[in-house]
Amino acid sequence: MKVLKFGGTSVGSAERMQNVVNLISDGETKIVVLSAMSGTTNSLIEFTNYLRNGNINGACEHSTFLHTKYMQTISELYRTEECKNAANEIINNIFAHLRDLAQKPLSDELEKEIVAQGEIISTNMVTIYMKEQGLDVELLNALDFMRLAVNGEPDLGYIREHLLPIVDLEKKGKIYITQGFICMNHEGSYDNLQRGGSDYTATLIGAAVNAEEVQIWTDIDGVHNNDPRIVENTSPVRNLHFEESAELAYFGAKILHPTCILPAKLTGTPVRLINTMDPKAEGTRIDNNLTRPGEIKAIAAKDNITAIKIKSGRMLLAYGFMRKIFEIFETYHTSIDMICTSEVGVSVSIDDDRKLDDIVAELQKIGTITVDRNMCIICVVGDLNWENVGFEARAMEAMKDIPVRMVSYGGSNYNISFLVREEDKVKALRSLSASIFTNKN
Ligand code: ADP
Ligand code: ASP
Ligand code: MG
Repeated sequence: MKVLKFGGTSVGSAERMQNVVNLISDGETKIVVLSAMSGTTNSLIEFTNYLRNGNINGACEHSTFLHTKYMQTISELYRTEECKNAANEIINNIFAHLRDLAQKPLSDELEKEIVAQGEIISTNMVTIYMKEQGLDVELLNALDFMRLAVNGEPDLGYIREHLLPIVDLEKKGKIYITQGFICMNHEGSYDNLQRGGSDYTATLIGAAVNAEEVQIWTDIDGVHNNDPRIVENTSPVRNLHFEESAELAYFGAKILHPTCILPAKLTGTPVRLINTMDPKAEGTRIDNNLTRPGEIKAIAAKDNITAIKIKSGRMLLAYGFMRKIFEIFETYHTSIDMICTSEVGVSVSIDDDRKLDDIVAELQKIGTITVDRNMCIICVVGDLNWENVGFEARAMEAMKDIPVRMVSYGGSNYNISFLVREEDKVKALRSLSASIFTNKN
């Protein structure tokens, strides 16, 4: 049994939705996870921004544009009046609900409820279309089983326990549709799995039902060896190890949600990235096999990074110095991405700077602090086992004209990371691609 996830562009118009239904109606039982139509989540976030600025009329006007877009899509998607009416009724109710929500004081939970509507709309629309096509389809409400634990991480035990009783995976040809991205928190309030979270929904469901494969259908033929929005002539990577793809996703490759590989790795479920626009293309397979040993596979970049240097004389001789630093970050629930040490100081990088002022105030008690904002992590990924010689030199060589604030290597066998200024990101990505991939071929 497979779990298939279709992203925003893949369900971005009536025609695309019909295409998805063609792709999934092959007689096999499956669970299909859908994102919101492309642009919808951004638009709902904009709606909440109007509310945050106290502009209720602006929010409602903004929602009217989105509502009109959906009415247009409905008019194109269905053949029968009955289905058009059924879909219009659902969409009209959702937009009326949004206008009601706009009258309430904006809270974190309300925001989450608002941004959840995109996935609720797309899954309803596709389910009605599938019924019109006479397919055996059932819409599962993700809020019935997708839940976060107290620590804010997905609760796989809960998900399994609440999903398995409501699906019949033995029923031949049955297709379950559900929403990506949205979930409940441990108190049962609206929450989500962060931007791009539908990938994560798919791998969590894959792990919960012990799927034979999770397929992530998107608008490109798999993971490319560099960001195709920035670098020309990138090419797809056919095979990645779980660890390699986890590094790439975490360190910025937009094609995958940062932590979506974890559940698949846990259960050993292979993940395939496939192009909806070109379903026959090979795409990328992610599993436990390490192919092309000793080779660099891909490069990714993560923006909005802050570097913090803590300088203290004779640091390495001071027992507990590192512990004190880590405790401060732990107290403020801020995770560290990169870390470099020397005898006189430690540098760390973080991507969540919401508690930066508090953290710096605490750190100042134990050393002299320097903060560099607007930095970017450039992550070079592959089978970089230290015993294979030469790849660090090639990566370093490519960075020779770029100021590098930190280098991290040896944390895993799969990555070497550079911290550079955001303004040097494009140059760094292009230079690394030219040196590592172009010269090689
Ligand atoms: P979806 O809406 O299907 O989830 P996303 O927009 O989240 O799709 O991810 C696909 C996009 O990710 C691609 O269109 C591409 O522009 C971008 N991208 C960034 N880095 C990579 C990469 N290394 N390989 C492939 N695509 C990438
Ligand atoms: N719709 C959500 C987003 O735009 C989740 C997703 O597409 O994966 O972030
Ligand atoms: Mg995505």
